[in-house]
Amino acid sequence: TDKSIEIVQTGKLLASCEAALAERYTVHKLYEQTDPKAWLAANGSRIRAHAGSGVQADLMDALPNLEIIASFGVGYDNIDTKAAKARNIRVTNTPNVLNDAVAELTIGLMISLARRIPQGDQYVRQGKWPGGSMPLFSELTGKTVGILGLGRIGKEIAARAQAMKMRVVYHGRKRQPSEPHIFYDNLADMARDSDWLVIIAPGGKGTERIVSREVLTALGPKGMLVNVARGTLVDEPAMLELLQTGGLGGAALDVFENEPQVPAGFLALDNVVLSPHQGSATHQTRHAMGALLVANLDAHFAGEPLISAVV
Ligand code: NDP
Repeated sequence: TDKSIEIVQTGKLLASCEAALAERYTVHKLYEQTDPKAWLAANGSRIRAHAGSGVQADLMDALPNLEIIASFGVGYDNIDTKAAKARNIRVTNTPNVLNDAVAELTIGLMISLARRIPQGDQYVRQGKWPGGSMPLFSELTGKTVGILGLGRIGKEIAARAQAMKMRVVYHGRKRQPSEPHIFYDNLADMARDSDWLVIIAPGGKGTERIVSREVLTALGPKGMLVNVARGTLVDEPAMLELLQTGGLGGAALDVFENEPQVPAGFLALDNVVLSPHQGSATHQTRHAMGALLVANLDAHFAGEPLISAVV
């Protein structure tokens, strides 16, 4: 505990995380200020840490003595890491503690899409069951899943997909010799050979729309797409069009280009399962993410090595 250390939050955080921060530090909530700009001008120079995600260069400039950005989440595509590095600001994220929760949701979305679980629920609720039966759908068993991004989360998805008796292949910038799965250096080639394509690579400039119309077309009319990474990795208009016209078999989407806005076209489609960015959204995982955020700040202010630094 060192209440002389002042930190800022620009958005709400998990309650247990906010409580832990408030116990240790003097926390300012920028989003509760009536005039955030004026508040920053008057107080910004006292702030040594930022807790939460989404920090661009203009905010860093308004916080001239900022030492660290402790982000909530593993993806940091919404933090200008280049600007942080140039200003000697450290950046931490919350990797690993969320791997299982995200992998679990991924498999859940896949089964939901293959077996039309949301539609089945509606079918029963709407009293349609006594009148007939639902059409037959597909299953995961025996299918090939191509994983775009066999990283921390991707590996947990791979293990669970194998438990579903699926064959796993993967694409990334480089082959991982210690992994038993077949590697594709070309994403479209992998899509062509796969029944399912699961996207779990980072967002940001390096991966913008790498799941292009060409890749989606290669996945094809029977192909199933799952995006649990970031909306920016997919050519979303092309995906929607292909889903509408039968060029792509189906999609299970946890993330969108302009979330929480979802293009209306998706809402009318039966071959789509929609999820409101729920990858890590469980009590135990969110709690662990909050604890890791706080532990990184504690390490920083104790002069110890950071636990999970990206800058
Ligand atoms: P990792 O860094 O462990 O893994 C990322 C993988 O992506 C690596 O295998 C990497 O392989 C690959 N990759 C990176 N850049 C490229 C590229 N340009 N082209 C192809 N492959 C690439 O990350 P995590 O597994 O911890 O997390 C992955 C992402 O999942 C996060 O960045 C986040 O955006 C998203 N996420 C979403 C959540 C949700 O709620 N839906 C929750 C948590 C995370 P290589 O280096 O060989 O290219």
